[in-house]
Amino acid sequence: MSRHDHDLANEKPLTRLVRSGRDHSITGPFVNPPVVHASTVLFETADDLLSGKQRYTYGRRGTPTIEALEDAISELEGAEGSVLCPSGLNAVSTALLSVLRSGDHLLMADNVYDPARTVATSVLERMGVETTFFDPTIGSAISSLFRANTRAVYLESPGSLTFEISDVPAIVAVARAHDAYVLADNTWATPYFFKPLAHGVDLSIQAGTKYLCGHSDVMIGTVAANARTLPLLKDTHSHLGLCVGPDDIYLTLRGMRTMGIRLERQQSSALTVARWLSERGEVDRVLHPGLTSHPGHAIWKRDMTGSSGLFGIVTRDWSLDKVKAFLDGLRLFGLGFSWGGYESLAVIGRPRRTAKAWPAGDHIIRLQIGLEDTADLIQDLEESFARVSNLS
Ligand SMILES: *Cc1c(COP(=O)(O)O)cnc(C)c1O
Repeated sequence: MSRHDHDLANEKPLTRLVRSGRDHSITGPFVNPPVVHASTVLFETADDLLSGKQRYTYGRRGTPTIEALEDAISELEGAEGSVLCPSGLNAVSTALLSVLRSGDHLLMADNVYDPARTVATSVLERMGVETTFFDPTIGSAISSLFRANTRAVYLESPGSLTFEISDVPAIVAVARAHDAYVLADNTWATPYFFKPLAHGVDLSIQAGTKYLCGHSDVMIGTVAANARTLPLLKDTHSHLGLCVGPDDIYLTLRGMRTMGIRLERQQSSALTVARWLSERGEVDRVLHPGLTSHPGHAIWKRDMTGSSGLFGIVTRDWSLDKVKAFLDGLRLFGLGFSWGGYESLAVIGRPRRTAKAWPAGDHIIRLQIGLEDTADLIQDLEESFARVSNLS
């Protein structure tokens, strides 16, 4: 162990983001790991080739670049181990495929990222897994939905379009009693603000595309596991042949170093904009768990140490045309999918629910607050409100 290597057990979150995933026995004196472009790895002798004992054997099976980000994620998540996936959606499907088999029953929260729903209703259904969607605010009443073959519960709290908060510890307690796995998509809070594994979740999923990378230039996903689930995750990830290019891994690790300060700023900016919006007559409700008016605020406050930069608003009786005109009028907010980058974005979301109808209208304006000055962002919103004020 060199003087650059540290045991991080007692370090605070910002320090961990800076120090984790840095194995100086590999990087030597350099701060950052090498970006290893590799398929073939060479062996000294035929015996070495056959022994299977060499640390690196093939590009897909591990490189110093892959290990650096995997170690950093495991450190951040408090995980036994983790894997990298070529997108956030792939992290979702890899996590599900790791624990499910034909004949199983899956419980999935009704507020999850829509393409995750589709993994359940397409690939998993075709493989003989049946899914029941449930009200994300169900809490321990989820016990009535369990069947003898219920293998897993899948959560996203808050859901990244409608922002209901689930009582994760209550749901975990019921799942444990039924010997089922709990999977959580934690992209919104990131492990910086909420550590799913510490709350009993088995697999913690992140679309690293969002805050981890933070610069809107990489597609990547991560899954982190506790000890009982890691062998299943590693097995599935390896047999599916998943791997991520070294440049994308490097950019993600680089982005992660500043994730804490970006999140702190995006948290305060988003709260400023959300509070301003909640005073506007055009706005019926602001969907942001960090506001005391949010129905999930108490649980959010109990379980999470912060809120990130993504939230929604529901406008008062606006037609879709008016919502579209409002978005078209924005100058600083780009119109585009994804979030977690340094720039502000707006999209129109249309909640798709099957367990319980969404109570607040057909369209949600979802805002991602970036690192711009909030005074400029508020002015942009204000001018767009003024422009649409005469439309019906
Ligand atoms: C974006 C997103 C994903 C998917 O990530 P990609 O990298 O775009 O595939 C999964 N879950 C949530 C909550 C997301 O916002």
